Amino acid sequence: MSTIIVWFRQDLRLLDNPALVAAARDGQRIVATYIHDDAAAGDWAPGSACRWWLHRSLQSLQTQIQELGGALTFRRGDTASVLKQLCQECGAQSVYCSRRYEPWAAAQESALYAELKNSTLSLKRYPGTLLHEPGSVLTQGGDPFKVFSPFWRACLRNPVSEPIAVPKLSFHKPLESDALEDWDLLPTNPNWASHWTDLWSPGEAGAAQQLDVFLSGAAAQYASNRDLPAVSGTSKLSPHIHFGELSPRTIWSYCERQTAIGESDNTSLAKFQAELGWREFSYHLLHFFPHIPETSFKANFNDFPWLHDEARIEAWQKGQTGYPIVDAGMRELWHTGHMHNRVRMVAASFLCKHLLTHWRVGEDWFWDTLVDADLASNGCSWQWVAGSGADAAPYFRIFNPVTQGEKFDKQGEYVRSWVPEIAGLPDKYLHKPWEAPAPVLEEANIVLGEHYPEPIVDHKQARQGALDAYGTIRVSQ
Ligand code: FAD
Repeated sequence: MSTIIVWFRQDLRLLDNPALVAAARDGQRIVATYIHDDAAAGDWAPGSACRWWLHRSLQSLQTQIQELGGALTFRRGDTASVLKQLCQECGAQSVYCSRRYEPWAAAQESALYAELKNSTLSLKRYPGTLLHEPGSVLTQGGDPFKVFSPFWRACLRNPVSEPIAVPKLSFHKPLESDALEDWDLLPTNPNWASHWTDLWSPGEAGAAQQLDVFLSGAAAQYASNRDLPAVSGTSKLSPHIHFGELSPRTIWSYCERQTAIGESDNTSLAKFQAELGWREFSYHLLHFFPHIPETSFKANFNDFPWLHDEARIEAWQKGQTGYPIVDAGMRELWHTGHMHNRVRMVAASFLCKHLLTHWRVGEDWFWDTLVDADLASNGCSWQWVAGSGADAAPYFRIFNPVTQGEKFDKQGEYVRSWVPEIAGLPDKYLHKPWEAPAPVLEEANIVLGEHYPEPIVDHKQARQGALDAYGTIRVSQ
């Protein structure tokens, strides 16, 4: 019986944490630690919105561990050096952690495993962030799936393990620790996230509460409401899941129980579970095709004639494109760190297809601004929208931002809440203000180009431009 270091990473929880359970079983004392090592992640170090979340989530985990009589040690620097130093300080021989699948993190794990093995130390890795480990769900030929539906059918044939309870924990006496505040994860000057504590409750307790709110409310109507951005029809669990405050196995088990006792419409819960399936699919793809966040999955897209118009990109980022549903989404993102999935698809499509901007530009912007920015889900989703990904939306299917708005925000509540300058327009023109006759604009106190922009591109022309651009690469597909 010995001291074991539990290296928390993207598993900021105590419930259903196999690494923690194994450490409690194998050791006498635990040293719980989190290491801030941006250099290891390189370009994929957390963006600004995720840094805000990370700070709050670590604070929450620290409090949980303190309440159990322990301490969460914060250290900054090269992970391998910090872990070896910690082992020396507390006499630990082993480090336990949950696996991560981002290419940089997987490489870090392998290097660390080899380095510690060469000394008297060891690294033990446990599953914890997915329903099924990459490699455990393959085609009959033993290959990774590249299409979602058969992947998900195969997943559904595999049992999901039940979540594991929080073990009885004994902690090593506190070691020297950085102060979280010194890591500068929170924005200052300006503090653009000052209102986010009213919107979000990072941490395991907040995640459990959010799951409860969803399962006892919106879950029942998820299938019919999930596409309506004005309705609170989705779970808003994505940042909690991303930071590992809630394991997908725990969510799964609650869904299965709810289905078994007939508390929710099965179609809705099955649809919700399938969305978790898209997350799984993204992670499995990332594991087998680690270049996904950086290069197009379909090689012919490497020759796509992308444009890079800074002024138009900035208009998109600021929600000033003149297309209300796109602008509403981009402003929701900036203001809350989140954007509704339907609107993510429309706004992303607008950037890639109407503005012919490389999907990586959008991926980077989302990386910095989303509280749920996730290398696997973000990279795969952007490639899905752009048409360059595995099982992607066909390139020629180009979202029309007007009809998307009219279909999914019929009464315009969503657009009116994020684009208040056009709130006075009647529903008929809300998603296409440029078609409103002069007296209607006047009545609504709107001068286009002054209070709200004229559309930065014409939909029909942009659509044709996108199809023409696609035509130049289609032959090689
Ligand atoms: P719910 O509808 O309640 O879904 C439940 C959970 O399933 C989500 O919390 C999430 O973990 C997962 N999920 C749902 N849809 C998807 C999907 N299409 N792909 C992968 N997982 C999914 N999701 C992220 O978690 N991080 C990202 O960085 C991210 N970037 C995206 C970028 C683009 C361009 C698009 C179109 C989608 C992106 N998504 C991303 C997927 C999706 O938009 C969000 O997961 C969802 O909006 C989160 O809200 P929710 O928790 O209320 O979702």
